[in-house]
Amino acid sequence: MTGEADPFESLQEQVREAGAAIDLGEDVLERLSNPERVLELNLSVEMDDGSIELFEAYRSQFNGDRGPYKGGIRYHPGVNRAEVKALSGWMVYKCAAVNVPYGGGKGGIRVDPAEYSEAELERLTRAYAEELRPLVGEDRDIPAPDVNTGQREMNWFKDTYETLEGTTEPGVVTGKGIESGGSQGRVEATGRSVMLVVREAFDHFGWDVTDATVAVQGFGNAGSIAARLLDDLGADIVAASDSSGAIYDGDGLDVEAAKEYKAETGSLSGFDGATEEWTNEELLTADVDVLVPAALENAIDAELAEAVSADLIAEAANGPLTPDADDVLAERDVYVIPDILANAGGVTVSYFEWVQNRQRFPWTEQRVNDELERYITDAFDSMVDAYERLDVPTLRVAMYTVALERVVRAAEEGGIWP
Ligand code: GLU
Repeated sequence: MTGEADPFESLQEQVREAGAAIDLGEDVLERLSNPERVLELNLSVEMDDGSIELFEAYRSQFNGDRGPYKGGIRYHPGVNRAEVKALSGWMVYKCAAVNVPYGGGKGGIRVDPAEYSEAELERLTRAYAEELRPLVGEDRDIPAPDVNTGQREMNWFKDTYETLEGTTEPGVVTGKGIESGGSQGRVEATGRSVMLVVREAFDHFGWDVTDATVAVQGFGNAGSIAARLLDDLGADIVAASDSSGAIYDGDGLDVEAAKEYKAETGSLSGFDGATEEWTNEELLTADVDVLVPAALENAIDAELAEAVSADLIAEAANGPLTPDADDVLAERDVYVIPDILANAGGVTVSYFEWVQNRQRFPWTEQRVNDELERYITDAFDSMVDAYERLDVPTLRVAMYTVALERVVRAAEEGGIWP
């Protein structure tokens, strides 16, 4: 979390605003804006020097009306209860927005993984998996990667679970390495949906994407791959940033070279293919057509929103705009493609991975990408349809109404029991 807003309050406000637009009752909204269950843990892990360290960890299971809880595990020093609760709620509405048969959950460990050895991180991940074992499973709750986690952590998680259970169940987590049951296209999936929604938006407005300039905040998995795929589409990625600062080149950065530079040196700062070095704030307010916040929550507050120059924002991160920023941007006619659609490629391909695991029948990358395109463009169309039909102020509210209606229908069909 970088700003002041409480991400859980942001989530609740988003649910309430959309719920009001479709006249959902107060009792229903109360249920849909609070998690069913939050597990808080203190994990004891042995360090390489023999000492024991305690790590605060969480798993929030927000809503299971549409299927098993689903959502990533974040390793970050800023992880806290409110953040995990918010992230788990966003997963509910993300899964419903793209219509994959899941509820929503999220986990996190308060840790800066850069400060620990690989062996320590393995013990930490296995300790977490061991504690979660009774709650997870391919029909219960299915973790996945999030900030600072990836195939390596998912492979450890799966191995721990399967060893303890004495079975094979690759669908207990998604985002695994290919030989551990991972899916083709999963690593690129979040960035790919960001590219797809930008392409669809440009199509919708009749703009030309080959004339577009783009700034990307955050150069991790989502940001760097979104940058590459938007570059492939013909747009110019003129600015990119990571926690070390921002780089700029008005003629367009060489995205691949920047990615290699970051892989070698650990940061973008000092990249010799850039003409200028910028601050994070300069990047977010840059005179570009498209802004892609791909870092953490609360990157843009109301004050910064006043200074945003982009015409379109595609939220690759979860919760990068505060609700106040949303209001300012709507007033200023800046379109925002909400996180629950823009970055939903990740969970959509997680769903494909889970389907492949259950059928023990891997798909080709082409099939994954074709199906992903279908899910994302269908969801985009349903958002635009709701926006026009309901006359709501933002695309976010429109997407939430679609998602909320699906969750409410599932809850009504199942009934509240006992
Ligand atoms: N962590 C990703 C997200 O926020 C992916 C979740 C998943 O694949 O389950 O959407």
